[in-house]
Amino acid sequence: MTDEELWRTGIDALACEYRALPPTLRERVAELAERVKEAKQALHDCVTAVNVGAICADCRGECCARGKNHVTVIDLLVCLVEGRELVVPSFSHDICPYLGENGCQMAPPYRPFTCIIFNCDRVEGLMGRSEKDRLYKAEHRLRALYGEFEKLFGKRFMAGLLIICERDLVRQGSTLLGVGNRVIKES
Ligand code: SF4
Ligand code: SF4
Repeated sequence: MTDEELWRTGIDALACEYRALPPTLRERVAELAERVKEAKQALHDCVTAVNVGAICADCRGECCARGKNHVTVIDLLVCLVEGRELVVPSFSHDICPYLGENGCQMAPPYRPFTCIIFNCDRVEGLMGRSEKDRLYKAEHRLRALYGEFEKLFGKRFMAGLLIICERDLVRQGSTLLGVGNRVIKES
């Protein structure tokens, strides 16, 4: 399968699996999704507070050169919960498929975990002790929330949608969320 086909197969399957979740599980997913968005926004605020605009503009987005496997099932679930339109990737070029003309196509609360926690040395160098503390606390919160998602479904999701789609759907004929294969813990 091409990346385009894997993406399409993956998001169609994820939307179906999400809709088929028991209501109590969907509620828990929605609750976690809300907290994930808040933690991502908090991380973004830590960075914008030190005025990185000029540095990032000058560097022209070096850290967005590769990102094909950064979008995870969890990042997509956060969008599905609120019926938000999903990012439209372009796999026809050699840079991150989610990069648009004006930067990342995803707003900060919806950006992949790997992207939202990353700051290069130039950006971290602008931060004082208290700003770094705030940043690390927000990252810790976000990491814990992704862990909660994985605990909820009893599955690792950090590998990225395309990889999980190829492994679980295409090769194993399984599901993305693991629902249907076994009983999900709803705690
Ligand atoms: S975070 Fe660093 S590598 Fe990424 S765009 Fe900004 S300056 Fe460039
Ligand atoms: S997903 Fe967005 S933030 Fe992440 S590498 Fe791609 S364009 Fe950059």
